[in-house]
Amino acid sequence: QQSHNQLHVTFLPHPSPGHMNPMIDTARLFAKHGVNVTIITTHANASTFQKSIDSDFNSGYPIKTHLIKFPSAQVGLPDGVENMKDGTSFEILGKIGLGISMLQDPIEALFQDLQPDCIVTDMMFPWTVEAAARLGIPRIHYYSSSYFSNCAAHLIMKYRPHDNLVSDTHKFTIPGLPHTIEMTPLQLPFWIRTQSFATAYFEAIYESQKRSYGTLYNSFHELESDYEKLSNTTMGIKTWSVGPVSSWANKDDEKKGNTLGKEAEWLNWLNTKQNESVLYVSFGSLTRLDNAQIVEIAHGLENSGHNFIWVVRKKESDESENTFLQDFEERMKESKKGYIIWNWAPQLLILDHPATGGIVTHCGWNSTLESLNSGLPMITWPMFGDQFYNEKLLVDVLKIAVPVGAKENKLWTSTSSEDVVVKREEIAKAVEILMGSDQESKAMRVRAKKLGDAAKRTIEEGGDSYNNLIQLIDDLKSLKKSKPLDEKV
Ligand code: UDP
Repeated sequence: QQSHNQLHVTFLPHPSPGHMNPMIDTARLFAKHGVNVTIITTHANASTFQKSIDSDFNSGYPIKTHLIKFPSAQVGLPDGVENMKDGTSFEILGKIGLGISMLQDPIEALFQDLQPDCIVTDMMFPWTVEAAARLGIPRIHYYSSSYFSNCAAHLIMKYRPHDNLVSDTHKFTIPGLPHTIEMTPLQLPFWIRTQSFATAYFEAIYESQKRSYGTLYNSFHELESDYEKLSNTTMGIKTWSVGPVSSWANKDDEKKGNTLGKEAEWLNWLNTKQNESVLYVSFGSLTRLDNAQIVEIAHGLENSGHNFIWVVRKKESDESENTFLQDFEERMKESKKGYIIWNWAPQLLILDHPATGGIVTHCGWNSTLESLNSGLPMITWPMFGDQFYNEKLLVDVLKIAVPVGAKENKLWTSTSSEDVVVKREEIAKAVEILMGSDQESKAMRVRAKKLGDAAKRTIEEGGDSYNNLIQLIDDLKSLKKSKPLDEKV
């Protein structure tokens, strides 16, 4: 039950799992600390998390979802396709984005009705700066990746060290970072590399971050302390590290393991494997690989001789790929070396299983944190956006990962040219290093485990992330109190 004096915060998530999941978990944490929470989203998006919200609400936490209608017909999408995880083509993704942008007016009207004390908004909605200003309330920018990536992008945009290099594959050093980090222009997001429709949009996002009350990061102090500091000094923004939110929000969730049923086939398969002997291979919710790359991954994994679980997106339309994969799956069933999960895996449960010993990841920030939380070393295979920055953090700063050698930051749908397909030999070699028993592999596993322990400590009472969340809530309460009476309608 909401009392007039209770702090009321609305959360506005973006409709892709990598953005939405951590924001929902953060919203749940606010509610568990007594904040009255409203999550604004559309029907089909809400259905991906509503169970947890209802369960929290029934346990007495003040949290609810406020639904708005997604304009499916207006953008030419069938009902229910509102989350980017369901977008099977770039065209559909674009339509989901368009539909979401059409909701700006209804969401603003809703803010006016709800009169929250604060808006926590995904970074992808820069327009909420003005909306919050009109309401006279603080806006909190939810940055869905690492401090490191935020600092790197900011400094690259500011100093443009990639301009005027002799080629796109020539290395440059990112200026102003506490570590020497090299990249090539080809590894930068397309909107930094070349001026395009998205450049102005991302500039607006960075501008909105500067004009916000502060930024929430799903990260923790021990993981990125240098970059946490750099954000505050170089970029001049107030920040709170409150992660890893996924393990925190679900910490007491007894249902986690039970909902699947003990008979889940992948679980039975994992249960037969020795501790830390299986590699989990996943490229997140948005990446779509082309046929040539799929074939190389299959052979690379098979040739490595190590056990693996691989999450593969089914392409209904690609007969030759499907036939190849079906044969591969059969062969792996016989050899018991590999297990394919089609389309969507219970990632957190697989990462937490004792048989899992490492992950091949596209370096999406959530997958990165989830692997880290399970104390797993990684093979980094960035695909697009911020993922190449995250790779640098994992490989060069934290030293808990082996790079597979990805060369080009792509739009997720784009076809790889022959020279950017990662070859089976490179994949098998990276797997051998990660899962092998030489000194450096062992040292990497020890470092990963240590970070996993730190990730667990930071969300315990008295830990850094725990304290930061309390601090933020207290700050917001003080702001609410200090608001002039005539503004408290
Ligand atoms: N995920 C999952 N099962 C899958 C693929 C992804 O549960 O088969 C989850 C994963 O645990 C993570 C999110 O989806 O929480 C993906 O976010 P991330 O930032 O790693 O990558 P993105 O999908 O945004 O590229």
